[in-house]
Amino acid sequence: MQKFAHDAISAIFPTIYPGQLVLQITDACNATCGQCGMRVTNRFPRTRMSLDYVKAIIDRAAENRVKAISFTGGEPFLMAEELFEMIRHAHRAGIPFIRTGTNGFLLRFTGDEDNFKKRVYPLAEKLAKSGLRNFWISIDSASPNRHERMRGLPGVIKGIEQALPIFESAGIYPSANLGINRYMGRGESPLMLLSQNRDAFHHAACEAFSQFYRFVVDLGFTIVNACYPMSMEDNREAVYSATSRDTLVSFSREEKVILFQALMETIPGYRKQIRIFSPLSSLHALIKQYTRQGNCYSSYPCLGGHSFFFVDSRDGNTYPCGYRGSENMGKYQTLNMKSVINKKTFCRRCDWECFRDPSELFGPFMEMLNHPLSLLKRFHEDPEMIKYLFSDLRYYQKCDFF
Ligand code: SF4
Ligand code: SF4
Repeated sequence: MQKFAHDAISAIFPTIYPGQLVLQITDACNATCGQCGMRVTNRFPRTRMSLDYVKAIIDRAAENRVKAISFTGGEPFLMAEELFEMIRHAHRAGIPFIRTGTNGFLLRFTGDEDNFKKRVYPLAEKLAKSGLRNFWISIDSASPNRHERMRGLPGVIKGIEQALPIFESAGIYPSANLGINRYMGRGESPLMLLSQNRDAFHHAACEAFSQFYRFVVDLGFTIVNACYPMSMEDNREAVYSATSRDTLVSFSREEKVILFQALMETIPGYRKQIRIFSPLSSLHALIKQYTRQGNCYSSYPCLGGHSFFFVDSRDGNTYPCGYRGSENMGKYQTLNMKSVINKKTFCRRCDWECFRDPSELFGPFMEMLNHPLSLLKRFHEDPEMIKYLFSDLRYYQKCDFF
């Protein structure tokens, strides 16, 4: 067990150096998602980071022993050639977990088979040779029509279905990325507002998650992830424009608790059919945090601004995450990591899954290294946490840590 824990930590998580960087290489996009400030119909000057600038950040990240880099957007594949070179550069620099994703516009199928193959085969081949570890494709709904209308990308679901075997034959296993929203189920009506009927909301949420998992399994995905609602009670300071207060993705505190419960209840039934990244231990902690169970917050504070960082495409500067836009930390290359890493972590202001899930999943290991007695106290106060944590770790190990 000790060796397994050590491998898990050193595979994904830093002990003393920052571990994860989300680089927003552009805020340009060609989709129409109503819940996102970067949709193509929103008028503002679009930006993109230059290849040389990104390479300098990657070199510094490698020196800092960063384990994971995500290239995000906007739509990263609007600058596909530079993106491939960024991925290759990160791979050459020895970063093990390199991720990027797409809204799938390059995969749209409009009936012309030859044109489709000419686009998708080279894409799969380039991704396979690049050193990329995870490739996500955003899917918003179990209803193809609804998804395509929301994204403004007709033909994208058919295209994804046809592209998945092509990717797999090249050794790429894309992940379906659900941003939890009120239209994620199969039906045409949105998930109801909670109002008075808690049980009905819970039932509808369980159904919607089930429908979504069945849908992506049927499409041919082998990995799926859920991004928790990208909204917070006050996100006016957010630097990352993918945050939103749109009702489509805004949920009250009570609704979030039920959504997290519904997700926790739905996941075990699908873990054998598809690799589900969402950790039960993190959902459990978020529920406890929102319901204020226990003597203190039961969730671990987020590592945003400590070991995880966000670099914004507009000014090229570093922020603790996509939300804390008032905390401009300057250029990543000039960050004083020693002073950053000595800062105490404290933040639980949002549920940004790419920061909250790993913070939660590896929090106990960090605590074991630094404050073993407080970890024992935590386990004593919350025995369910151990159960979920070990269930997650066993599952992650089977999934080769994704
Ligand atoms: S959610 Fe993604 S695909 Fe949709 S508008 Fe925003 S950046 Fe573009
Ligand atoms: S919880 Fe993490 S991602 Fe959310 S605002 Fe705090 S540091 Fe940022």
